[in-house]
Amino acid sequence: MIPGPIEISAAVAAAAAEPPRSHVAPDLIERFGAALAAMRKVWLAADDSVPVILAGSGTLAMEFAVQNLVDRGDAVVLVNTGYFSDRMAEMLRRRGADVTEVGAEPGDAPGMPQVAAALKKSGARALFATHVDTSTGVRTDAQTLCALAREHGALSVLDGVCATAAERFEMKEWGADAYLTASQKAIGLPPGLALCVLSARAAQRRRSLREMPPLSLDLDQWAPILRAYEERKPAYFATPATSLVWALGVGLDEILAQSMDARFAQHERCARALRRAWAALGLEGLPRRPELTANTLSALRFPAGVGPELVPAIKKHGAIVAGGLHPAIKATYFRVGHMGDVLNRQNDLERTVRAVARGLADCGWKRDESAAVAALRPRL
Ligand code: PMP
Repeated sequence: MIPGPIEISAAVAAAAAEPPRSHVAPDLIERFGAALAAMRKVWLAADDSVPVILAGSGTLAMEFAVQNLVDRGDAVVLVNTGYFSDRMAEMLRRRGADVTEVGAEPGDAPGMPQVAAALKKSGARALFATHVDTSTGVRTDAQTLCALAREHGALSVLDGVCATAAERFEMKEWGADAYLTASQKAIGLPPGLALCVLSARAAQRRRSLREMPPLSLDLDQWAPILRAYEERKPAYFATPATSLVWALGVGLDEILAQSMDARFAQHERCARALRRAWAALGLEGLPRRPELTANTLSALRFPAGVGPELVPAIKKHGAIVAGGLHPAIKATYFRVGHMGDVLNRQNDLERTVRAVARGLADCGWKRDESAAVAALRPRL
């Protein structure tokens, strides 16, 4: 129950375990092309958007966006909501960007007027933000951020690693320019794929860069390959992670078995039910306001007298959760992931709530376990 890598479905696991295919095997070409088209649907992206599948982690997806959308000397505004925004800031600086950070205390997000003022003052060419910061459980207002970026003539780039396919994101409708993720989160695969969809306008930006991206990350190298897969033609630049692409086809089909609206609503319902359970156990969330509270994970403060020893205590009772991650407050909270396939496993969710309740009791914080479990019912 950590916020990624998440539990995967049996069908995805079986697909990933098949003997590896060649990157030009006809069935792989078919599935690769179909997966690119399915990404547009999951991202709710425009027909002329450019989906990208690379072998790599979420960090590589971040790097791909930075290297292809930002040039040395570009003014960039970064909305900083935690650990992964710090990482993005470091990448942008290494790319030679002139970065204006707009931040907030851990658990909070900066107000939109602050972001607008920074965009205006800096003349930024791009606005970067983390949709859900996994270190704090804070969700930014991605729709408004995309609108502000448009208004100020900047590209909007959202790190959706802990959000994509679980938190509402309407790439086309909101006018977003890049939305990136990794396979091991709500997409429901093992780790190993970096995924990103670029708007047509973002894909154009690569053409006007003065400083080229590293070859392995260069959109100009990858675009013809991806286009070939969509046209069901063989192509080669660098060998894709074929087993994961094979499994991606299955994972995206599972996601698209219901509408994205239904899927977002399911994550919201599950998060709400878990929040009721946490409240019954006397736990408080780290995000400061309800509208900042992500639906993909719960970041929960340790109650009085309880510390990081809670995490192994919960494990002893049958659920693996994650400790704190934000360096400034690491020892004061823990995190429980709730995205993807686990939402279909009511028993696992109940077992997790029980394990948290019992771990807390072991640490001296005894609350009504059955009230917490009851808060999850009726079925999510
Ligand atoms: N951004 C966010 C919001 C994340 O949660 C993570 C990983 N937890 C990353 C980026 C980096 O992804 P990866 O660990 O796959 O490189």
